[in-house]
Amino acid sequence: MVRAVSVHTYHGTAGKEGLMAPRVYVTRVIPRAGVDRLQQAGFDVDVNEGDVPLRQDDLVEKARSYDALVTLLTDRVDRRVLEAAASADLKIVANVAVGYDNVDVAAATDLGIPVTNTPGVLTETTADFAWALLMSVARRVPEAEQFFRAGKYHGWGILMLLGEDVHGKTLGIAGFGRIGQAVARRAAGFDVKILYYDPVLGPDVGKPFGAQHVELDTLLRESDFVSVHVPLTPETRHLISTQQLQLMKPTAYLINTSRGPVVDEGALVEALRAGIIKGAALDVFENEPLAHPGLLELTNVVLTPHIASASRETRDRMATTAADNAIAALQGRRPPNLVNPEVWTERK
Ligand code: NAD
Repeated sequence: MVRAVSVHTYHGTAGKEGLMAPRVYVTRVIPRAGVDRLQQAGFDVDVNEGDVPLRQDDLVEKARSYDALVTLLTDRVDRRVLEAAASADLKIVANVAVGYDNVDVAAATDLGIPVTNTPGVLTETTADFAWALLMSVARRVPEAEQFFRAGKYHGWGILMLLGEDVHGKTLGIAGFGRIGQAVARRAAGFDVKILYYDPVLGPDVGKPFGAQHVELDTLLRESDFVSVHVPLTPETRHLISTQQLQLMKPTAYLINTSRGPVVDEGALVEALRAGIIKGAALDVFENEPLAHPGLLELTNVVLTPHIASASRETRDRMATTAADNAIAALQGRRPPNLVNPEVWTERK
């Protein structure tokens, strides 16, 4: 597909005294607050106003021509892009997301390029949304809404659109980092028992939440709701596949707001069709923006287009956090959210 790229330049002042201001390329539209922050720091900022991802060749070209790249999760920042960046002494790839599986961090580290993410600022918003999905699928909210709009509501019925209770159940959280813990905090009001699995964090981390550390198999066997909050890495790709789904209760629901490839979508469709589990709610997909066609045919799933962090306030904070990282690197200061800190020490 040929995509038009319309670029808008915002001029900064850092180069006032005859010097060129450092140039930042923003690969796709971001909230204005982020661009303002960069511009106020004095940089020339070019933004791909097309709001579609750049073609790979264009991304390579931008990497070669700018001092900093502000990227989004729809950009594939691969070794080729990073080699072009290194050849031009690019100072930073500032990703506007907490996840950075779209960036080849190993290649960036080899090439000495700092990479940053936006941790923390989207934690609460994403946890809110995981609960929104959990409750939507358990109480069949989207299905009921469609039923109403289709003119099918002809009067109250005691057996109409029965769902499952959320309160008093067991919630299993896979990945007990920032977002996993924020999901656990919200469980208190629902009188929910919490199990968590996290190979890095031990049993003590769960204590303030009244949450119990268990192995993944136990979590899958005992939970009524399984909510996934791991980063996408080679180890977590298809963390949930046929074998894991078979361990779950036939009355259980899977909620995924992490990254699509963490769940084997084909296996999930099979499990949902066969009644191995009761339902699923997904914000992320293996091949975005596509979903497995089988998912679209099922009524026991809730599907949303990767919007777990999509509140106005949080998206502003993500943009300004990425901008702050880029500004620090361009000013020779250590960016606050380095994901490959070893690069920075090497550079000093
Ligand atoms: P985090 O790093 O604070 O937490 C991730 C946790 O997962 C860590 O505690 C880590 O130890 C654990 N973990 C790593 N490998 C694991 C494994 N194999 N099994 C179980 N646990 C494992 O990250 P976070 O800020 O909580 O974000 C988590 C992920 O959520 C991000 O990486 C991102 O991909 C995703 N996310 C998605 C959206 C969205 O819009 N849908 C929004 C925000 C974040």
